[in-house]
Order: sequence, then structure tokens, then C-alpha cells
Amino acid sequence: MEKTKIGLFGGTFNPLHMGHINSMVTITEKMGLDRIYAIPANQNPLKSPSSQGPTPEQRLKMVEEGLSGYDSFVVDGQEVEKGGTSYTIETIRSYAQEHSPEELFLIIGMDEFQVFDQWKNFQDILSLVNLVVTSRPGKSLPQSIQDIPIKLQKLVVAFDKGYIELETGRNVQFLQLADIDVSASEIRKRIRTGKNVDKYLPLNVENFIKEQGLYQPKGDRIGDFEKLTEFAADALFARKGVMVRGFDLTGLEAPCEYALIASGTSTKHTQTLAENVIRSIKDEYGVTPIGTEGQSEGSWILLDYGALMIHLFYDYVRNEYRLEELWREGRDLNLKDPYIKNEE
Ligand code: ATP
Repeated sequence: MEKTKIGLFGGTFNPLHMGHINSMVTITEKMGLDRIYAIPANQNPLKSPSSQGPTPEQRLKMVEEGLSGYDSFVVDGQEVEKGGTSYTIETIRSYAQEHSPEELFLIIGMDEFQVFDQWKNFQDILSLVNLVVTSRPGKSLPQSIQDIPIKLQKLVVAFDKGYIELETGRNVQFLQLADIDVSASEIRKRIRTGKNVDKYLPLNVENFIKEQGLYQPKGDRIGDFEKLTEFAADALFARKGVMVRGFDLTGLEAPCEYALIASGTSTKHTQTLAENVIRSIKDEYGVTPIGTEGQSEGSWILLDYGALMIHLFYDYVRNEYRLEELWREGRDLNLKDPYIKNEE
């Protein structure tokens, strides 16, 4: 008897988008899968938790809505029902009770594969399931063993482009998709800034987002991102941020609409700038960043407010990246330090 082939596709699905569906449809066809279980995470251990945005139940609902027209896609709500941090190994163990490892295929995009050796018990995962890794725009598939995560290299028995055999008895297959260049974070930003997202979302997911008012700027609070940028700049000036510059990037091919950049004189100072700007925006607008990067280290801190990105550098690093050069096509907001008396 032929074995059942089952795909397991986890993700935050914040929201489910056409990139996910494209991947699921292509894999089902190319690999002859019988079904794919889509499993929304309650909380991805490698992504920072966010108090903003949809609840896990709303994300689950979006996956249900978006996949409702596909017979071979099944939604599994176990991670959301369980709550807490979602570890793939635990979910996989539940499937392993009913299916042998040959039958199970864990599907991840190339972005996830690059950090796969940071996943909890990744070696155990790779003894219970095979891995299917799909391309994602901007991420090329590995051409040699050096291109795969270091700790994974140790498990490789044979490497062929597109196929890896592991000492666990399982394998990794790489699949090139007809890529759809979209990510959930880009969709969230587009919705926040009032841009069209039709072609990136299944219709009923788009409707659900509208009905529930998801990813909207919070009432009038962040209606005007230019004002928010200026407000954040003042919070930086107040803590002696150095070379505070703001840019309006609307209309450019940039990942955000407004960018604010400032330097601190030490990593500690940079961290203080970040704390102060987060607190000030929270007090005034009642919102916290959707994401933050680098806050504990302090050499380059990124605060993601959707349409506004704030970059705070310990100055040495700022010179290395020269972000302002990337933004020179934008409109310089010519921010002025309100704490310096104008002596002209
Ligand atoms: P974010 O932009 O918030 O990081 P995401 O779009 O990467 O979100 P996830 O829900 O975290 O979405 O992704 C779930 C899985 O789908 C991951 O394995 C990811 O690599 C894959 N994936 C996401 N977008 C695409 C895409 N456009 N093409 C192929 N795979 C994708």
C-alpha cells in the first residue's frame, strides 16, 4: 500500500497570505502530498511577542477562512489552544504518534531554514519528519553544504543541490517556487498606511481583516505618521540624541513610509534613547513598537512602528551602514532640536 504523505506547515500567519498558499499548492502538486496541515503558532519562540495586532484566535480564524476552499488543506489549532510559546518539536510529536517519519514533511521557507539550527531540539525534529524547504524572494537555495546552518552540516550524509540525506535517516528537499514576493510584515505595513493589499490576500482573509479592523492605525492616534515622526524626534532630542534626521519616503520603494535616524554617544546612551522614545510614544499614542531589534546590545536598535521605522545607532555603526544615503531620494524633514535656542 502506498504511504500517506502529509505536510506540516507552521507559521505565525499574521496574516495568512498568497505567499503561504502558493507554497502549499506548489508543494502539494510537486510532491504528491495527500494533505497539508496548517498550524498557526500561538507564539513563535524566535519572534518577539506583540501586544498589538490580532489575537492568536484571530490569526487562526484567518487561516481557516483563507484555506476554506482547499480540500487538501486542513487547519490544526493545537498550538493556539495550548497557548504559551509554541515549539514545533512538541507539535510534531503529536503527529508522530499516528504517522511514521517517512510520511511526514515539515514545510518551511528558506528564511526559517537559515536559522533552523536554533530551533528547539532540531535534531529530534529531523528524526521524526523530513524537511521541505522552499525558496523565498531574496533568499537563494543552498548550492553547497557550506550554505546550510552550521550545526545542521554535522548531520549531513550526502549533499546534492536540492536534496540532502541526513544521518537521522530523514532528508531535506529544496523546492524552487514561482516566488510570490510578499511577507506578512509587508502586508501589515501596507494596510497600516492605507495601501491596497488585494493581490496578496485571499478575499475572505481580506474581508475578515476589514470586519475586525485589524492592522489599522489606532484610531486617530497614529493617523499622521509625519507627526509621529516629529514627535519621536522630539523625544530623541530631549535625551540628547545626536544627528537626528527624519525622512519622508512615501512613494519610494522603501520598506516604510517614514524613517527616523539618530545616534547615541555610547551603547548605553543609545539604549536610553530607545527606552525614552518607546515610553513617550506609548504615553502619547498608546502604542508600542510592533517589533524591536538590537535593544539589548545597543549598537543598532530598530524600532518598528509599521509605517515609521526608527534606527538608533551607536555612532560608529551608523557610519558603517550609511542608511541616509539610501534615503536621499526621500524628502528630508529637516528636523530641528527644540531644546537648542535658535540664535540666528
Ligand atoms: P513575517 O513577515 O511576519 O516574518 P511571514 O510572511 O514570514 O511573516 P510566517 O507566518 O511566519 O510569515 O511564515 C510561515 C511560513 O511560510 C514560514 O516557513 C515562511 O518561510 C513561509 N513563507 C512566508 N512567506 C512566504 C512566501 N512569500 N513564499 C514562500 N514561503 C513563505
